Amino acid sequence: MVELLIASRNRGKVTEIREILSLKNVDLLDLHELSFEGEIEESGDTFEENALIKARAVFHRYSRPVIADDSGLVVPYLEGEPGVRSARYAGPNATVRENNDLLLSRLRDAEGKERDAFFRCVAVFYVGPKQYQTAEGTVHGTITRELHGTGGFGYDPLFYVEQYGRTMAQLADARKNAISHRGKAFRALKRHVIAYLAEHDVVE
Ligand code: IMP
Repeated sequence: MVELLIASRNRGKVTEIREILSLKNVDLLDLHELSFEGEIEESGDTFEENALIKARAVFHRYSRPVIADDSGLVVPYLEGEPGVRSARYAGPNATVRENNDLLLSRLRDAEGKERDAFFRCVAVFYVGPKQYQTAEGTVHGTITRELHGTGGFGYDPLFYVEQYGRTMAQLADARKNAISHRGKAFRALKRHVIAYLAEHDVVE
């Protein structure tokens, strides 16, 4: 069994990454399981910068291959907010509920296309400072006026997906992963992980 590290302690996200990658013979350890202490300051201006900041911080501590991502919700009508600040939109220790409420209040007067939004994810497989790959994924939707559904995490109850006629939080996990920003990014990243495993004689 090979151990790869996931630079996140967001349970919703880690569950999705495990399901999407669905790697056999690999133990994916998250920051809880590693008892990683302290916060990684996400000081970048882009999802890619922040994904790399997280990957580097965890690699620096353990010197082992790291999978990281940075993701968030982008609302063009709000000039890209909440963007890279999605997790802390309503403040440094904001709850999901507070973030969702703030988004709804900022969009109170928005109609039609003004409620368009997308989720974006940049995923990184980081094996060393000069050896890493990135992949990205995006999914488009619109922001509802009320919360619908209990699945997923974060802004999912407000993110309506036209194709299914439901919010992300009303979709079964496998359906969300099939169309989501994270699903797209990590399916694209997977071939790099598989190549690394093959180099290290791990059969997938
Ligand atoms: P990160 O952990 O720094 O990448 O922050 C991601 C934040 O973006 C989450 O805490 C959510 O607020 C939001 N987000 C990212 N992906 C999703 C998703 O799939 N559903 C709902 N919210 C998401």
